[in-house]
Amino acid sequence: MIVFEKVSKRYRSFQALTEVSGHIRRGEVVVLCGPSGSGKSTLVRTVNRLEEISSGRLVVDGVDVSDRRVNINEFRRGIGFVAQQFNLFPHLTALQNVSIGLYRLLKMPLREAEALAMEHLSRVGLAARAHRYPADLSGGEKQRVAIVRALAMNPKIMLLDEPTSALDPEMVGEVLNLLRTLAKGNLTILCVTHELGFAREVGDTVWFMDGGRLLEVAPPDRFFSSP
Ligand code: ADP
Ligand code: ADP
Repeated sequence: MIVFEKVSKRYRSFQALTEVSGHIRRGEVVVLCGPSGSGKSTLVRTVNRLEEISSGRLVVDGVDVSDRRVNINEFRRGIGFVAQQFNLFPHLTALQNVSIGLYRLLKMPLREAEALAMEHLSRVGLAARAHRYPADLSGGEKQRVAIVRALAMNPKIMLLDEPTSALDPEMVGEVLNLLRTLAKGNLTILCVTHELGFAREVGDTVWFMDGGRLLEVAPPDRFFSSP
């Protein structure tokens, strides 16, 4: 589903990624670990071309991401993205945040989009919060709305960049629970996280990066038991 072949990325003089090679199968859950500044966020953001790669080849669901002919908006529609900060539209309610992509991008009729958005919010226990604005939601609720917003677009791939690290500790659990449910489905998931217990539990594979290189790819048992 995602193939990195010697992918490198420079920011001006700084080499953020060095010849990263690896592949992620359809339905695989890859947990990306590594110290701060090791290039995790950069790697995740190359997948939907929020960062352009400097060299190498990156193929996502059969699409060569560097190909200038790719319709980037259409391409990104198949890829859900959830960042550390919730990035909800502050002037829209939870329901509107989830439904806007459905009717703006997928051209669903408004009523249908809102009904579907409501269904998604209900599924994660947020029906009662549907008409609140982000400012009136807790951090955990905002992040669940952000995840649901991505899911509602029915993506093939979900990218998550430290989805729990901006949350107060008591809210991490509710977001991880939602991610656990996601991981059981057949989505392909690439998730940066420092939650090692979670990584061990839901990851099919752990990728470990340091200094812009992918140093280890292993199933969680092997990864976490290695000395
Ligand atoms: P991680 O997610 O593992 O913390 P990042 O991918 O965010 O790492 O960053 C890797 C390195 O690239 C860091 O040293 C960071 O300072 C640098 N970097 C990230 N974004 C930029 C940018 N836009 N311009 C210059 N350097 C950047
Ligand atoms: P516009 O297309 O008007 O720039 P968007 O609402 O499409 O605005 O995007 C706002 C920001 O979110 C931009 O920085 C864009 O690169 C980013 N973005 C848009 N779609 C995605 C996506 N699927 N995944 C990650 N980032 C996205």
